[in-house]
Amino acid sequence: MASSLRLSYARRSIPMSGRYDVIVIGSGFGGSVTACRLAERGKRVLVLERGRRWEPDQYPRHPGDAWFWSMRNPRKQNGWIDFRIWDTMSVAQGAGVGGGSLIYANIVVDAKPEVYETGWPKEISYEEMRPYYDRVAQMMNVQEVPANQRPHRFRLMQEAAEKAGHGARFRPLPLGVTFDPEWTYDRPDAFNENQSKRWVNAQGVEQGTCIHCGHCDLGCRVRAKNTLDVNYIPWAEKHGAEVRPLHQALRITPGDWGRGYRVDFERFDGATPRLGYEEAERVIVAAGSLGSTELLLRCRDQYQTLPRLSPALGYNWSSNGDFLTPAVYTDREIEPTRGPTITSAIDFLDGSQDGHRFFIEDGGFPSLLGMAMESEQRTGKGKKNERRFDLLVAAMQQIVRVSNYPFNRVMPWFAQGVDAGDGRLYLGRPRFAPWRRELMLDWRIARSQAVIEAIVKMHLELSKVTGGVPRVPPTWTLLKNLVTPHPLGGCNMADSPHRGVVDHTGEVFNYPGLYVADGAVVPRAIGINPSKTIAALAERMAELMK
Ligand SMILES: Cc1cc2nc3c(=O)[nH]c(=O)nc-3n(C[C@H](O)[C@H](O)[C@H](O)COP(=O)(O)OP(=O)(O)OC[C@H]3O[C@@H](n4cnc5c(N)ncnc54)[C@H](O)[C@@H]3O)c2cc1C
Ligand code: SF4
Repeated sequence: MASSLRLSYARRSIPMSGRYDVIVIGSGFGGSVTACRLAERGKRVLVLERGRRWEPDQYPRHPGDAWFWSMRNPRKQNGWIDFRIWDTMSVAQGAGVGGGSLIYANIVVDAKPEVYETGWPKEISYEEMRPYYDRVAQMMNVQEVPANQRPHRFRLMQEAAEKAGHGARFRPLPLGVTFDPEWTYDRPDAFNENQSKRWVNAQGVEQGTCIHCGHCDLGCRVRAKNTLDVNYIPWAEKHGAEVRPLHQALRITPGDWGRGYRVDFERFDGATPRLGYEEAERVIVAAGSLGSTELLLRCRDQYQTLPRLSPALGYNWSSNGDFLTPAVYTDREIEPTRGPTITSAIDFLDGSQDGHRFFIEDGGFPSLLGMAMESEQRTGKGKKNERRFDLLVAAMQQIVRVSNYPFNRVMPWFAQGVDAGDGRLYLGRPRFAPWRRELMLDWRIARSQAVIEAIVKMHLELSKVTGGVPRVPPTWTLLKNLVTPHPLGGCNMADSPHRGVVDHTGEVFNYPGLYVADGAVVPRAIGINPSKTIAALAERMAELMK
């Protein structure tokens, strides 16, 4: 957050309108679900979202497009990916109306019942969560890749599981994607957008069917992805909710009318005044694991507007044990840039591998490099690219260079695991700019190393039995650095304020009417893609809010 914003909000902000019943901060899985359900019940809901409202023709595709979100300069840089790099861990997140659903790989899957056996408040169990999972599945319209459209990666996963003696653990995954049963890979011009069929979903929004273009993480141009901005959010708006993109919440203060809260924000849409605030009886913080934790840390430690927040704030953060091992196949096509990004899994969450719990998935990636080269040809050399975009392209090139094979021969073996969940988010002062206070992560690999090693071992085995040559990234072998798209925790749910920040309903201890409803409340690694669990928790919280 810009240092100028440390100036008195009271002096520089103005109220933007009358009071709302509820202000929701963030429009990802937690924010969209709570906004939708409360608006359905007749509450006057305002959603503040720091990112843009993206339209399909605006998704980033070329160097120079709006790829990145910058915490240091969001007014100028409010693009697609919020990618944070710390010493031992990097975290990728979405930014925009729809949050992580815009960028996600479409997997909408329940956590395993065993995950609920430890670490949760006593009211939360799998049985308790089941109806809420069902509600999410219905809204996200989940389905598997049809049998006639399974990409090469799916078949490789199945073959690997069978050859390694784990055939019974293989399964197709439920995806938030709409497929046309008649589409096939061998039809002429199969990946052309004109092959997508238009249809209207249950919320009245026009979508398309999947053409297996592989761009899921970069935004689905034909709207086959069932993202939150085509279901929960428009449904909330139909029930009167107001969504304000490019509005970043900066501070929460208890209302000076004795109840409720005031939310100060900055807007990046060019309108004036740049700073404003709104007030409501209830505030739901749903800015994601990093965003919600940072906002509450600032309110407790920097602005001291919420000084009685739990001392557990920031603790027990988890990366959900994510890991990727590319493997090269000399004798078969893999085509990782075709088909939905992830399609299937081999499930080791039962602890059968020396007690380690993990979930292997196929990983695809968009043909970013091809697009970058295409764009380079179009725009000519010398066009200045965003530095992190060049880094992404360089990382892709690295895979090709190391393997000496084109992308279509590389299998990205992906996985998530139950790590120790012992990271800590806090506000620190960067070495190069000690006058700033920034969100920092203290992550140590010691207690999570064994599960990552178990994942790597399984990736090597699955590659070997199918004739692949795995390339374990040196960022792991040499540095023990990890990257995660699945941050969890920071405002953990618990039975008491000594152990967590919110109770089982999401209400913040010591602050009635203030809630956290997103990945920040998940109190432990779940070892599986988390969006459905986050959305199901939010469904439950919305139902329990009076
Ligand atoms: C590349 C990628 C692929 C993924 N694939 C999958 C998958 O296939 N399946 C799966 O289950 N999960 C997947 N995930 C993870 C999934 O996206 C997250 O777990 C999920 O989005 C978290 O939901 P949330 O509600 O906690 O937060 P988010 O969805 O991150 O939403 C938080 C929102 O709050 C906004 N925000 C943050 N701070 C503020 C502020 N101060 N003021 C206003 N707004 C703010 C953000 O811009 C964002 O829109 C993937 C993630 C990535 C990065
Ligand atoms: S593969 Fe392409 S069409 Fe299918 S969901 Fe992903 S982005 Fe959309």
